[in-house]
Amino acid sequence: MTLRLFNTLTGKIDPVTPADGETLRMYACGPTVYDYGHIGNFRTFLQVDVLRRFLKLTGMKVRHVMNITDVDDKIIRNATAAGIAIGEYSGRFERAFFEDMDALRVERPEVMARATEHIPKMVELVQKLAAAGAAYQTEDGSWYFRLAAFPEYGKLSKKDLGGMEDGARVDLDEYEKDSARDFALWKAAKPGETSWETAIGRGRPGWHLECSAMSMEYLGESFDLHAGGEDLIFPHHENEIAQSESVTHKQFARHWMHVRFLLVDGRKMSKSEGNFYTLRDLLLKGYKASAIRLALISVPYRHQFNFTFDGLAEATSAVERLRTFRQRLMEGNFAAGSFADGERSFLQAAARKAQEEYRSALANDLNTAEARAPIFELLRAANTAMDQGELKAGDRDAILVVLKDFDAVFDVLEDRDGEATQRALKWAEQEGRMNEVAPELMARQGLTDAAIEALMAERELARKQRNFARADEIRKELADKGVVIEDTKDGVKWKRK
Ligand code: AMP
Ligand code: ZN
Repeated sequence: MTLRLFNTLTGKIDPVTPADGETLRMYACGPTVYDYGHIGNFRTFLQVDVLRRFLKLTGMKVRHVMNITDVDDKIIRNATAAGIAIGEYSGRFERAFFEDMDALRVERPEVMARATEHIPKMVELVQKLAAAGAAYQTEDGSWYFRLAAFPEYGKLSKKDLGGMEDGARVDLDEYEKDSARDFALWKAAKPGETSWETAIGRGRPGWHLECSAMSMEYLGESFDLHAGGEDLIFPHHENEIAQSESVTHKQFARHWMHVRFLLVDGRKMSKSEGNFYTLRDLLLKGYKASAIRLALISVPYRHQFNFTFDGLAEATSAVERLRTFRQRLMEGNFAAGSFADGERSFLQAAARKAQEEYRSALANDLNTAEARAPIFELLRAANTAMDQGELKAGDRDAILVVLKDFDAVFDVLEDRDGEATQRALKWAEQEGRMNEVAPELMARQGLTDAAIEALMAERELARKQRNFARADEIRKELADKGVVIEDTKDGVKWKRK
């Protein structure tokens, strides 16, 4: 089964195939680690996760590279204000980024590349651009890309750049179409700013340059797919193409995938609008990481997604239904054979159909909404059969295969939500943000980890002293607060229900 995906470059739905016939080489623009990511950012990373997981489900190998922008105007500004080195500042948000990605169960790309660790590659690219006549240095020591040297500029965004002023320049990393002009590749050092002493002068890289240098470093001059949020089409990706193709004279990326925005009340969720939620905000409100994941991937990437708490509540109950369903299948005692309706094995046929529909919806431009539908249809049919005592072991096995397929991409069936919530609570405690924790969540938590550990120790002691009444009392107290004790071969463990 071949994935067909909209390609911003061709304006068509194109098959996604590895040029080498084996491994799909893809690059996705990663975060700028100057703050906590908001769920709009994570929507993009999650949709790329859906892409890579589906490709793997179809048997393809994937080599996925993601950058971490750990030097930029905002990082320098904030680190300077905090009086710390940029690495110390960005490191903190990089760790937070990975924690959030883990909570949302986003698979790690094969390569994560930090911009500050690839400065020599970027310098080399500027030198090659200069040799090709596509870069020039200004008096202050900065380097710019010469737009006039790349007549194909604009081919990705399909913008009419006719009104462009020749030789006019822009220093900002993010700018609007009407200021399409020579853009900064390398910014000369300003007093007090972090900079690198290099063969092209003292300074630091521009954002666009980072992605060209690092993608080609790990994927080669020409690779299969490049992804990012829709805001990156222009100027970022247009600039990446210009920088790369001016040097290699080869097609940079063949397929361009752009994830549309997450909106709040019809407006883009963004830091500057102040209308954003971070993952931590939502976890502290008591929402489960799995429900957030499901909500963020259930609207296909080609559609803008209007975030609402109703949507999140819907995802919460969808996760519950799926988990209860799977548990019922796994724990039930079913007679051998299959539920037959005349000659036909009714439920097994339904399972096969659901799997086919599920896979083909994803193969059709990653339509996650359509992919979900047959799974829930199957759930309804199987629940009815179980209610009537008609579901057999053969049906259960066939349905579990479909659920496994579903979970290979959606990954919400295994309950690891407690860990993510615990981590968010620990973070809130450290950051003095416990006042943001929803009362329902506090009530649900009941006990802190430390309080549980103390009770566990007391129980151990009581057992040693053969005071089993007290030990049982503690077990019950913990159970009432949602904590279960398990005797494992590695000793006594506890976990939250
Ligand atoms: P940034 O950390 O701002 O560089 O953004 C990281 C990624 O998130 C980029 O691919 C952006 O295009 C994407 N992004 C930013 N805001 C949104 C949003 N509201 N919805 C979806 N993706 C977004
Ligand atoms: Zn990029």
